[in-house]
This record gives sequence, structure tokens and C-alpha cells, in this order.
Amino acid sequence: MINLVSDTLTKPTPDMLKYMMAAEVGDDVFGEDPTVNSLQDKIAKMFGKEGALFCPAGTMTNQIAIKVNTNPIDDVICDIDSHIYQSETGGYAYNSGVGITLIQGSNGKISAPQIENAIKPGHDWQPTPRLVVLENTCNKGGGSIYRLNEIEPIYQLCKERELKLHLDGARLFNALVETGENTLDWGQYFDTISLCMSKGLGAPVGSLLLGSHKTISLARRFRKVMGGGMRQVGYLAAACHYAMDNHIVRLKDDNDRAKQIGDVIAKKSFAKSLKPVVTNIVIFELDDEIKDIDFLNLLKSKGILAVPFGGNTIRFVLHLDITQKMCDEVCQILKDF
Ligand SMILES: *Cc1c(COP(=O)(O)O)cnc(C)c1O
Repeated sequence: MINLVSDTLTKPTPDMLKYMMAAEVGDDVFGEDPTVNSLQDKIAKMFGKEGALFCPAGTMTNQIAIKVNTNPIDDVICDIDSHIYQSETGGYAYNSGVGITLIQGSNGKISAPQIENAIKPGHDWQPTPRLVVLENTCNKGGGSIYRLNEIEPIYQLCKERELKLHLDGARLFNALVETGENTLDWGQYFDTISLCMSKGLGAPVGSLLLGSHKTISLARRFRKVMGGGMRQVGYLAAACHYAMDNHIVRLKDDNDRAKQIGDVIAKKSFAKSLKPVVTNIVIFELDDEIKDIDFLNLLKSKGILAVPFGGNTIRFVLHLDITQKMCDEVCQILKDF
């Protein structure tokens, strides 16, 4: 089976496993796991941030970010399709007691003028605007990319209006290999950044939250209260070290393969529309005559797995475990449909 369901499906490579097994470990709740500490230091430095915190999942790094940047009855502003709103079990309300103002962006991306319009004036009867969350790449936006020149005006606005700015960078490296922009430039604009190691980068577990010393020491407390304080977790941090050192550059292959598949789909009548393919995600809407479940079953009969993505759309995600040969096979099968 060629599994295009998600880039979270990747399994550790033999070399990654070897590297994990050789990790030096300690009790990370006491801050004594050298492999966790060196990972946190390495990634904080990459982004020019004072600190980083290793967490079990991107949902946790996002949820902690909302928690450290807000107080109850504050307001968070984000795109309607953002992961923090759609895919984190309503955690912003549950964990942080905040409201949310949703913007209908363009392929998951929101602009400074849209954010300005969404800032509530702050009457007693309104939640207090406090935090803006951006996603790069935007998952439900079809893997769309923000460029730094789009971030700059959002950063300026947030500074003027005293709003915090968080980046959900679960797939940030898929964007950076495409644009050539660098991590230090990205780091300077955000109060907090969350990164995932367990998607295209291929680690089995792991996300990092980046921020100031003060933010990260508070984040440590929230990680603990959420049950995310782990012990000899350096074995998993080692996988992230390995992924950072060996699997970033190759994300370009995933992006390129997604584009190859997108080029085929763009010419087929089964697709009513296709979101621009710029990174490793392909989202297309099926012709009204074709039901998503039927299409997925047909794909399955040809050896391809994918998921329905709402509103009669299908999502394909390219990742570490999909070779060029498998991609060629997918293209051929789609051409023959
Ligand atoms: C996957 C993902 C996350 C984190 O998900 P976990 O499964 O909790 O690691 C956060 N944001 C986006 C945009 C994602 O795609």
C-alpha cells in the first residue's frame, strides 16, 4: 500500500533507531537528560530564541503557547481553518479559558488588515484581544506558505496593539526548504513558536516550543500539570536530533513529489478544483458526480490510501516513507482514472 494519509505515519529509519539506542539519558523532570537539553539548546539557538521545551505532541506545544500568552477571558485571533481551532479538541477554551475570533483567510493565511478588523475594541462585555496565531505551512490551506514579507506587517500590528504572536510551525521546515528563508529571521517575529519533529522529519514523537527564558520556565510548569513531564526521554529526543541533522533537506523531495501529483490532478476531470500545491500537501475537490468515499475506495483498490478532508475533498500528504517510485506509481494510476 502507498499510504498518503498523513506525514505523521513515518517510522524511524534504521539509522535513526541506531542513533536513538545510543542516546545518553537522564531524568528530564529534573532537567537532567543531556540529550533533551542539547536538543532544546540546539533548536533555540537556530531560531535565536532564549529557550525551548521538548513536549510529546504539537497539540501540547500549541496549547501551552496559548496558556503562556493569555489569561482567562482573553481573545485569540486566528484563521478559521487553523489547527488550534479545528483539531485540538477545543483546548483553547478548556485549558486557557479564552475566546476565539475566527478569520476567513485565503488558503489558511490571514493578513494584517484582516487581523486589525478582528481586534475587538475591549469593552467590558468583550474578551480582551491578546494573541494572534499563524500556521506555516497551513494544513487545511493545502500546505500554503507565508513569506517573511507577509509576517513583517502582522508583527508590526501586534507590537502596536500589544498582542502576542504565536507560530504553529508544525511543518515550518517544509516551507523553509521551499523559500530558502532562514530560521533566525523567522525567530525574531514570534513570541512563541511550535515545531513538530514527528511529521515529515520522521521522528516517532516530539515537538518543541520556543520562547524567552521566562516563557519557557512557565511553559515547563504547564507541561507538568498536563502530564507531559517525561523521564528518560532522551531516547526520543535523539530521534529529533537525528531528524534535524538528516531529514530537513530531503523535505524538498516531498514538496516536489506533491507538485508532480498535483500537476496530474490539475488535468483530470474528476477534480473540480485543486488548492495550489506549494509544499507536501495536495488537497482537491471532487466533481459533484463523484462521492469522496467511492473515490477513496477506488484508490484503495489500486493500492493507495488517503483520507476525506471535508466538503467532498481529498487530501494526499507526501512524506519520508514515500519514494519517487511510489510517487510515479500514484501519478500513473491517477492518469489512468
Ligand atoms: C499535526 C499538527 C499539529 C500537532 O499535532 P500533534 O498530532 O498533536 O503533534 C499542530 N499544528 C498543525 C498545523 C499540524 O498539522
